[in-house]
Amino acid sequence: MSQTEFQIIQQHFADSEAAFSRPEIVRGIGDDAATLRIAPDQILSFSMDVLVADVHFPATADPELIANRALAVNLSDLAAVGAEPLCFTLGLTLPLVNEHWLAAFSQGLVPLARQYNCPLVGGDLSRGPLNIAIQVQGQGEAVIGRDGARDGDLIYVSACLGDSVLALASFGLDTHLGTDFKIDSATLSDQDRAYLNEAYYRPQPRIEFGRQLLNVASAAIDISDGLLGDLGHICNASAVGADLDLTALPLSDCLASHLPEALQQQAALLGGDDYELCVTVAPENAKQLEAIAGGLGLQLSRIGTIRDGYGINCRDSKGQLQEFDASAYQHFGESE
Ligand code: ADP
Ligand code: MG
Repeated sequence: MSQTEFQIIQQHFADSEAAFSRPEIVRGIGDDAATLRIAPDQILSFSMDVLVADVHFPATADPELIANRALAVNLSDLAAVGAEPLCFTLGLTLPLVNEHWLAAFSQGLVPLARQYNCPLVGGDLSRGPLNIAIQVQGQGEAVIGRDGARDGDLIYVSACLGDSVLALASFGLDTHLGTDFKIDSATLSDQDRAYLNEAYYRPQPRIEFGRQLLNVASAAIDISDGLLGDLGHICNASAVGADLDLTALPLSDCLASHLPEALQQQAALLGGDDYELCVTVAPENAKQLEAIAGGLGLQLSRIGTIRDGYGINCRDSKGQLQEFDASAYQHFGESE
């Protein structure tokens, strides 16, 4: 390891406020491996997301926001399995060493690391195209899977859907929803812009909600690729189908006022990058689920029902079936 690399790691990562300690961490940054001591009754969960510049975020975006988003999307996966965050590692490839960029990036990790008591414990650094890999570790006494949904279960989703893809369009960037999916940015107020920027760069990992779903929800997933695709993963894993009520999709005022209805539905169903939780629950647990969300001040919408069979049927206000191209964002899909 060259002196420069050592200095970078020391200054921006080892000495970062994100690299605090917690009792489970036996060794953090600075040794050959990070090591943890966890209680024997705890299940350890791992999740990794790789974020590639100009695929998952605009390369020129504010590094603090990029870092925040990179950690948020990883924590969201822990939320979906109901795990309590423990720590994370960071693999970074950078085209060149830019002190300001690194300082802002490392600062951007701090708020969520602190909020969820999830310190940075190690990583790797290399020269290459800008690319951020984070692996989070979490623990818990149980986990929620994708495979527990059963006929008759109710389907819920937290907060609002579709704002992230609207945000991308508002930044003037192409989205995977095609060229018709656009917004006239001139119609956006400063408040709308701030709202969309937050929606895209500061998704809220629903950690506490996920924790409380253990032994209540039958299945859960975080919505990274769009509701239809991700609910589809629950359906496939659980060998069930689903009926969705299009009128029940939770939409923000910003989205509802800036898109025609057909595009609102596309954004909510196919947009992705929402990082909200889609949860299924047996009817007898529904009140408990609603009380959990209520206790957290988290908006929760009942959007449909699980049924035996295959596929997701979407019905509009007249009860008519609507077709959507459910090929949610696929990195290695035919379109690429
Ligand atoms: P080695 O050559 O043994 O793999 P490295 O030079 O890659 O060691 O890293 C030295 C220490 O710095 C290790 O503890 C490693 O986990 C940590 N580290 C390296 N890069 C990062 C990073 N981007 N963020 C946090 N810690 C890092
Ligand atoms: Mg290394």
